[in-house]
Amino acid sequence: MRPVRGRLAPSPTGDMHVGNAFSALLAWSSVRARSGVVVMRMEDLDLPRVRPGSAERILEDLEWLGLDWDEGPIYQSDRFSRYDAAFMELKQAGRVYPCFCSRKDVAAAASAPQEPGDELRYPGTCRGLGSDQAVERVKRERHVWRFRVEAPCGPPFRDLVYGNQGGPGTPPPGDFIVRRYNGTSSYHLAVTVDDMEMGISEVVRGDDLLPSAARQILLFEALGGEPPAYGHVPLILGEDGARMSKRHRSVTVRELREAGWSSSRLIDELLELLGPGGSSGLDRLDAMKSGFRLNQVKGRKDGIIWGSGAPDKSS
Ligand code: GLU
Repeated sequence: MRPVRGRLAPSPTGDMHVGNAFSALLAWSSVRARSGVVVMRMEDLDLPRVRPGSAERILEDLEWLGLDWDEGPIYQSDRFSRYDAAFMELKQAGRVYPCFCSRKDVAAAASAPQEPGDELRYPGTCRGLGSDQAVERVKRERHVWRFRVEAPCGPPFRDLVYGNQGGPGTPPPGDFIVRRYNGTSSYHLAVTVDDMEMGISEVVRGDDLLPSAARQILLFEALGGEPPAYGHVPLILGEDGARMSKRHRSVTVRELREAGWSSSRLIDELLELLGPGGSSGLDRLDAMKSGFRLNQVKGRKDGIIWGSGAPDKSS
């Protein structure tokens, strides 16, 4: 049997917070517990958002936590030509079309309820443009390229934490962006090409990305690849109940290190967040390495509060 291949895929847009550390810990443990291969992929796709030095700091933090990898780091910024090639393949197969709508147009369209996740459901305004007209407008107008979703329903798959998703009766995702205004690949296309070419068989990440899995599965199918298994894990919230993000005030691994926390203390605190049913006997990295299974994680769309993480309480 082929070994499981998982990945750690941080975005170098700021220091890693405890929520990032939590999903990385579970992704890593799930692979290591089955003697699999961990690929390190630095998701520096969105160059204007990348902070200088952030990638190095994240790699250091992961090493400090004891989360190692076998391949990489592979930088997305070195792979733009791969994403372009995949885009051309989709284009030649007629799976994409140019879209001239602004974000404002999409938001204003009456039939555009917000899709879960960060994207607006596209109402399909530019889907039916004749090809001559589209070719002409592409030369002159600002545009993105969207993937034409032909599926009648959300693609069915079994999430390793949240169970069955998609299938008959569920709405398919709206046509989504694969190439942005500036000609670079979207997150969905880059991640799919990467997961496909790196032979990733298991993706474990925060459950804010659960709606992304449907889009990525459709791209896998269009590009002739086999989608990995997906497991989406709960997000960690700040003490105020707000989602931790690199923009919002969040507790970073750095801060805790600087406040004198040991890595095993942080690992213990993170594992405690899994709850009594999920974490029994798994209070050490070694135990995670040998016995962890993702089905020990319970889905919680409302997130898990990080109660003890403020550095000033660490003494
Ligand atoms: N780079 C994304 C993040 O740091 C993860 C994307 C993914 O796992 O597909 O949240």
